[in-house]
Amino acid sequence: MLSPIAIEIASGLDVAAGLGLAAGGCAYAAMWPGSQLFGSTLIAPAHPGELALTFDDGPNLAWTPRLLEILDRHEVRATFFMVGSRAQSEPALVRRMVSAGHLIGNHSWSHPNLAIASVGRIKEELSRTSQTLEQITGVQVRYFRPPFGPRRPEVLRTARRLGLVPVLWNAMTSDWKNPSAAAIAKQLMGKIDRLERREFAANIVLHDGSHMDPAANRAPSVAAAAQLISRYKESHRFVTVDAWG
Ligand SMILES: [Zn+2]
Repeated sequence: MLSPIAIEIASGLDVAAGLGLAAGGCAYAAMWPGSQLFGSTLIAPAHPGELALTFDDGPNLAWTPRLLEILDRHEVRATFFMVGSRAQSEPALVRRMVSAGHLIGNHSWSHPNLAIASVGRIKEELSRTSQTLEQITGVQVRYFRPPFGPRRPEVLRTARRLGLVPVLWNAMTSDWKNPSAAAIAKQLMGKIDRLERREFAANIVLHDGSHMDPAANRAPSVAAAAQLISRYKESHRFVTVDAWG
């Protein structure tokens, strides 16, 4: 017989796969805020006109500073879900991001597949990252994005127990595979505009780093972010995810 936890995992994954959540994001949960598929998570509220640019897997010494220049030029603040071990290697860059007004979140210490990790390992990955980010910046870390998405409720439960709000997304494309900036921007604009028609804010994921390569080329993702800012800056408000809960 399956334990209640196993049933929850199995049904969660089935429902997620059936709705295309595992592959493409969490539009269903975003459309139906009452859904507790993965427990309580932050995606995006019914605030059409608001966009959160979020960047995962950094910091990246080559590309994050270029991104910061673009964000600064347009006075846009973004949310960065950092890999703890990368942050430890680049403390000056992390401090620069916080002093520029960006929000820093936890994306685990080493970006493992937490779906197959022990609860002890999950705790270690999350708490070590929060402690390191807090030591570097002096700012409490409140948000967590699970590496590879919400594939196991235990990961999100552990995050909540550590005082972290799990943050998912509703607008993602495979920018990490290095398609052109134009292709990334076009796909995301389609998703943002669809969310807008349904009267939802967009929680947009891009990658300024890579969990596999600390010096990954993120030129297309950075240029795509610049295109999104140009397209939406007059008509929309860019927010960090703490504006939503
Ligand atoms: Zn990641």
